[in-house]
Amino acid sequence: MTAKSLAQQIADGTTTAVAVCEAHLDRIKAIEPQLSAFNTVTAERALDRARALDAQQQAGAALGALHGVPIAIKDNMCTAGVPTTASSKILRGYVPPYSATVVTRLEAAGAIVMGKTNLDEFAMGSSTENSALGPTRNPWDLERTPGGSSGGSAAAVASRMVPLALGSDTGGSIRQPAALCGIVGLKPTYGRVSRFGLMAFASSLDQIGPLALTVADAALAFQVIGGHDSHDATSSTEAMPDLLASLTGDVSGLRVGVPKALLGEGVDEAVLTAFNEAMRTLAARGATLVDIELPHAGYGIPVYYLIATAEASSNLARYDGVRYGHRTTIEKDDTLLTMYERSRDEGFGPEVKRRIMLGTYVLSAGYYDAYYLKAQQVRTLLRQDFEQVFASVDVVATPTTPTPAFKLGEKTSDPIQMYLNDIFTVSANLTGLPAISVPCGFSADRLPIGFQLTGRMFDEATLLRAADAYQRDTAFHTEAPSLR
Ligand code: GLN
Repeated sequence: MTAKSLAQQIADGTTTAVAVCEAHLDRIKAIEPQLSAFNTVTAERALDRARALDAQQQAGAALGALHGVPIAIKDNMCTAGVPTTASSKILRGYVPPYSATVVTRLEAAGAIVMGKTNLDEFAMGSSTENSALGPTRNPWDLERTPGGSSGGSAAAVASRMVPLALGSDTGGSIRQPAALCGIVGLKPTYGRVSRFGLMAFASSLDQIGPLALTVADAALAFQVIGGHDSHDATSSTEAMPDLLASLTGDVSGLRVGVPKALLGEGVDEAVLTAFNEAMRTLAARGATLVDIELPHAGYGIPVYYLIATAEASSNLARYDGVRYGHRTTIEKDDTLLTMYERSRDEGFGPEVKRRIMLGTYVLSAGYYDAYYLKAQQVRTLLRQDFEQVFASVDVVATPTTPTPAFKLGEKTSDPIQMYLNDIFTVSANLTGLPAISVPCGFSADRLPIGFQLTGRMFDEATLLRAADAYQRDTAFHTEAPSLR
């Protein structure tokens, strides 16, 4: 069931928070061993919360929007008293003393945290294969990746272990796994959702958002987690609109820009077919399709991988073996420097090391202007591309990923091939714009395909309205993988 119907049924007394929680824990018990979506399942804590929520309801308390709804949290968001590892050896056993703002807000709205989900180490990757705890499997085909880095969250929702999950998206990590697992993923506008308590990867790109079975559920969760937070200096003070009210089903007159030139080389036939069909569905509902150009979008990957690694190299300097996380065994002749070096060498995995080295290189004297500064300049050009386009369209549509889910191991030896996955998703992070991925079909071997809509700054309402209207005419999001 969706989060919305679960909340309704608990509210009207058809079921209870405890019954819903137990049913989902049973499902987790049956399915999780096949997928490895969770790093931690917080069964006892969840049941305690469910009992408390039922008691509150019985005492006549006002119910939150997510009263009794189970949710999974990506394991790079702090949860007080619950281990939070970012799927890194360097944070094994780390238990944060506080919760991320998103977690606090979800719990205040009555949601029940069921556990922490697997990710590529520090969210660096597109397949969860960079997790120090081993990969998560795609519920549609256990030999394939669920995508990444929020692969655990996507697999947990797609396999119906939870109706909702949170992910973080720096270059596509909510939308890409949502697409590869056949569910909805929303990356809100930069600054819309507080990053307080999110383990920083690339601070000018990172944003938290929901993964859900339906657009309506994504809107519901986003409504709860969005809005200003004084704990995050980049958090926007822009007011949150009533998103559920914006789901009118009406897209007549909506102008959908399609950047045809980006849809050529490297895009799978099945993906293109499903994408074109999705555009026809929107047009049939009254939207207008407009040919657009984004001349700098082709530079997205190199620009992203310069900026993201530069910021990562700086953010990850805090894992030094002193304050928290893994510390090496100290030998007699060790200096402070050798302690730092060995702690980091032992704690970080290969992809994280690659990025720290690349990021340090592009920031170093002599290379800064040629790489980092140049990337920032092209980032501005890309932002201008979108500004121009949004003068004549309301949303931009592309596929979310160039291909359906690839096989585990298929791209692990070639980082460039792995990075190329992000061709359609990095633009929204580089520009700060909101974007959503919505299921729009299946490949011949029944692997999910998604399309992406990107909107104006702070205009998630239009994105959600268009995506929800699309779901009213299609049933792809109601199909579930046959796991038992
Ligand atoms: N796949 C991209 C990367 O490896 C994006 C990751 C993310 O959004 N966290 O950096």
